[in-house]
Amino acid sequence: MPSIFTKIINGEIPCYKIAEDDQFFAFLDINPNAKGHTLCVPKKEVDKIMDLDAETYMGLMRFARKVGRALESAVPCKRVGMTVIGLEVPHVHVHLIPLQTMANATFQHKESFTEAEFMAIAESIRARL
Ligand code: AMP
Repeated sequence: MPSIFTKIINGEIPCYKIAEDDQFFAFLDINPNAKGHTLCVPKKEVDKIMDLDAETYMGLMRFARKVGRALESAVPCKRVGMTVIGLEVPHVHVHLIPLQTMANATFQHKESFTEAEFMAIAESIRARL
């Protein structure tokens, strides 16, 4: 069965899209640690990041860097942190999280936004790509 992220990539489930190329896809995390929390995903559905082939791994990092630079310019923060967990969704994804404090990196501190706010955040990041 396809992962929830494959369904997002295929347009079967809605998302706040940030960027896409032929191999990778970025969208806002729906339950964000902080404003602008973004996920970067390879379209190829692989569970664990260490199982990616080296070329896809490096491509994912290159794609995440591009998105992360736009994110850092769009959302006021001390820096954008990058982390990989994968305990909830078994489809490789890199979390890009604008950090003000360590609490933003813990996944225990969550922030909520309206649909209009999510749309405005996504638009602001996209405009800086
Ligand atoms: P993890 O697999 O532990 O790295 O966490 C998966 C992340 O995916 C969590 O931060 C979720 O909030 C996020 N997530 C799960 N479903 C969706 C969705 N439909 N749209 C956006 N983000 C999602």
